[in-house]
Amino acid sequence: MELRSPAIRKFAHARPVIDCAQCGEKIFAPDWSEYLDDRKVRHLWACEACGYQFETIARFPEPVAG
Ligand SMILES: [Zn+2]
Repeated sequence: MELRSPAIRKFAHARPVIDCAQCGEKIFAPDWSEYLDDRKVRHLWACEACGYQFETIARFPEPVAG
């Protein structure tokens, strides 16, 4: 597997990745995402390995005002 491209690594790093709370398998993209407000997103995750579903809430930091 070729993983030397910095662009690809940066892209992968920017995406939400989470370990399945049930079996530990990596889930690379949420099944569903919805914005709760300007700085909160709810992700719904579904594990392909075991079928477990759960949700997380991502909070973005306040933008730094100049
Ligand atoms: Zn799982």
